[in-house]
Amino acid sequence: MAFNPINWLLGLFSLDIAIDLGTANTLVNVRGKGIVINEPSWVTMDKRLRQPIAIGLEAKEMVGRTPSNVMVVRPLRDGVISEFDVTQIMLEYFIGKVHEQSVVPLPRPRVVIGIPTGVTEVEKRAVYDATMGAGARQAFLLEEPIAAALGAGLPIGEIKGSMVVDIGGGTTEVAVMSMTGVVASRSLRVAGDEMDEDIVQYLRNKYNLLIGQGVAEKVKWSIGSAFPLPTEKTMEVRGRNLVTGLPETIEVSSVEIREALSGSVQVIVDTIRDALDEIPPEIVADLMDLGICLAGGGALLQGLSDRLSDELKLRVWVAEDPLSCVARGAGMIFDDFDRLSRLLVGLERGSTRHSV
Ligand code: ADP
Ligand code: MG
Repeated sequence: MAFNPINWLLGLFSLDIAIDLGTANTLVNVRGKGIVINEPSWVTMDKRLRQPIAIGLEAKEMVGRTPSNVMVVRPLRDGVISEFDVTQIMLEYFIGKVHEQSVVPLPRPRVVIGIPTGVTEVEKRAVYDATMGAGARQAFLLEEPIAAALGAGLPIGEIKGSMVVDIGGGTTEVAVMSMTGVVASRSLRVAGDEMDEDIVQYLRNKYNLLIGQGVAEKVKWSIGSAFPLPTEKTMEVRGRNLVTGLPETIEVSSVEIREALSGSVQVIVDTIRDALDEIPPEIVADLMDLGICLAGGGALLQGLSDRLSDELKLRVWVAEDPLSCVARGAGMIFDDFDRLSRLLVGLERGSTRHSV
């Protein structure tokens, strides 16, 4: 983000932060500073005391190596807050870190926080309450695809349709927007985590090799793909042979991993096709110009945009820095709050702390 002296000055007297509370990663974007926190949404807890041991990156590194009294929690795993207390602990920790990073004492922040489309009123309230409970002065909710579209620079205020597909860890969100509203949307619990699981299953079935989720994720990053690569690759993978019980290293190819991922990729393709089926022809015509924008970490899967263009006959492009799109887009709300605050999601009546 370019340095803006006005924002910097404002930042001395107030604190505005945008949070992308993702199923895989949490990003915190501080107005005037940019993204200051980018860590996995993971917490390790002491099982008996229900106390956190580590949060963020440190917690993710512990995965697969924890003793029996330690449990690993991903409080947002499926895109909604399944563990309210842990979510609040995590938010408190990240907001606290923003305060720690400052040399001058900071006021309690105004917070814009992303929520998936189609969440229930109860879930919205849970996100709102967790944010307020974590020390926010005011909390505002913003639908993630709108944040992603803003972050990707899509013209969502115009009378033109655009489409964002945000592929995260736990969920894939497909949204078609026009005139700052969502025209059609789909939310799918098939995304990056499911792909990691596909790789674990594939290697177990084909080679009797048991690998951890963390290793599977690294295999996906290095040689995972959704479309034939210009030059196919191979990589060595370490695990335990399930027959002998002994450690083993095998060589796998990108062709094999593509086969492993094909089921999940196809589900994503079909869901987008489904959403396209539902939208008015005027918007389909707009999409022929604008194409489909991919955001979220899953957008980085090699060949995914080629595969989607091939199947959907539309141009498909990856947003710049897809992993930070939602956090950057949510932060833009503060840059023009009077005009853009109408994009925020209201909570239904009955809330005493309602501030939207
Ligand atoms: P969320 O918004 O749910 O927190 P993110 O947008 O942060 O999710 O994306 C996280 C997902 O993106 C993870 O499943 C991760 O493995 C995946 N991912 C990140 N980089 C790559 C890559 N280079 N190739 C494939 N998948 C990737
Ligand atoms: Mg996300």
